[in-house]
Amino acid sequence: MKPPRKLHIKSYGCQMNVYDAQRMADTLAGEGFVETSSSDDADLVILNTCHIREKASEKVYSELGRLRILKDEAARNGREMRIAVAGCVAQAESSEIIRRAPVVDVVVGPQSYHHLPRLLAHAKAHGRALETEFPVEDKFGFLPAPKPEAIRARGISSFVTVQEGCDKFCTFCVVPYTRGAEVSRPVQRIVDDVARLADHGVREITLIGQNVNAYHGEGPDGRTWPLGRLLHRLAETPGIVRLRYSTSHPRDVDDSLIEAHRDLPALMPFVHLPVQSGSDRILVAMNRRHTASEYRGVIDRFRAVRPDIAFSSDFIVGFPSETEEDFAATLALVMQIGYAAAYSFKYSPRPGTPAADMRETVSAAEMDQRLVRLQELIDSQQSAFNAATIGETVDVLFERSARNPGQIVGRTAYLQPAHVMASPEIIGQILPVTITSLERYSLLGQLAVRSPTPPAPLPYLQMTTGA
Ligand code: SAM
Ligand code: SF4
Repeated sequence: MKPPRKLHIKSYGCQMNVYDAQRMADTLAGEGFVETSSSDDADLVILNTCHIREKASEKVYSELGRLRILKDEAARNGREMRIAVAGCVAQAESSEIIRRAPVVDVVVGPQSYHHLPRLLAHAKAHGRALETEFPVEDKFGFLPAPKPEAIRARGISSFVTVQEGCDKFCTFCVVPYTRGAEVSRPVQRIVDDVARLADHGVREITLIGQNVNAYHGEGPDGRTWPLGRLLHRLAETPGIVRLRYSTSHPRDVDDSLIEAHRDLPALMPFVHLPVQSGSDRILVAMNRRHTASEYRGVIDRFRAVRPDIAFSSDFIVGFPSETEEDFAATLALVMQIGYAAAYSFKYSPRPGTPAADMRETVSAAEMDQRLVRLQELIDSQQSAFNAATIGETVDVLFERSARNPGQIVGRTAYLQPAHVMASPEIIGQILPVTITSLERYSLLGQLAVRSPTPPAPLPYLQMTTGA
């Protein structure tokens, strides 16, 4: 019997790439590949790339330089190493990658991962293979389901792609070009995927998509289901105790999603809702199709049904023509909303996007100092949010053993990592934890004795309060 071949996948960028890497590994498992954590002894290395900012794209070429040395060394030892570039850089730069880095054997765009076995065979026979078309068939119909042992090895929390691509065309963003038009998977396929994951130990599902709340998949009744209805259906899956979704667009928050937050205890009260800027002038230039006040209105709708809800967001500083006044509007919005966490980026012009042709650029020094100011504000909000948990008892879903011996780590409803000393038997359970201290972004605590959800007030207490 042939020994298994070793596969190493290095993923950059978003959650979508993490999920895609798993699906590529599942596809190649059928070809006799097993995953390895290092590229040093791999027979196939896949770089699963991100094109969202220039820095992310350029990382690929420096990594390819390192892989060239490994590939040469493998060849000297009589071993064949193949290198594939997948993801959004593959889609955007296609044959340019092979021109810049002839060490690459396969270039494959995000919509063609189900063709990987064929592309590898082609590269073996002809030296190279390249596929960056948007095929007519849906890759999800062809990607094999993960094996039970792969599901178990990946832990109790899993991503499931429900939607891909984006039709919004924000003027700074490459996603509509690299991932294509918005497509939603049918409800039943998602329900089956989630049930299979739950059967093999998964307890938390994060539904993902570039614009996940634009979801409009075909339901079993033949009608189009919005995300809220899908969440209601998935909440019925035995074994699934937590549901999340990411990333949402403020324009696509509909009543079904608000109702899902009102009605489903399993749907976590933590929403990533990127706004990008607090200035209406910049929001128009970005083609975001919402104003700052409409964004605040959306936040209020969530808060009205779930007062304990918290938000994270994405911001871009230094978008072309952004003035100090525009930036002040962003800081003001952050102050008004109060975030539990947020990501902020310096604007990076991406070839082929409308904003890349805008002339009124902001200087690098200006961008740097705006980024620092924004990040300081966000950090202070995040620290205050975390500090407020000290002395509180919060529900934690335990995920795995931590680095420190005897410690188990899990996550709160707000994705804060929480560490306790306990037996690994608690992995997969939601248990109450009394938070005793903070360590940077992590919470430290002890398993508490109270039941995870507070019991209803006792009748005699209600009577005395009213007396
Ligand atoms: N779909 C999401 C939304 O509606 O905002 C975000 C998708 S994108 C993968 C993640 C984040 O990257 C964006 O929210 C934005 O803040 C940032 N981003 C996208 N293009 C960028 C660019 N050209 N320069 C800097 N940051 C960018
Ligand atoms: Fe990019 Fe998000 Fe805008 Fe779509 S909605 S174009 S993914 S930033």
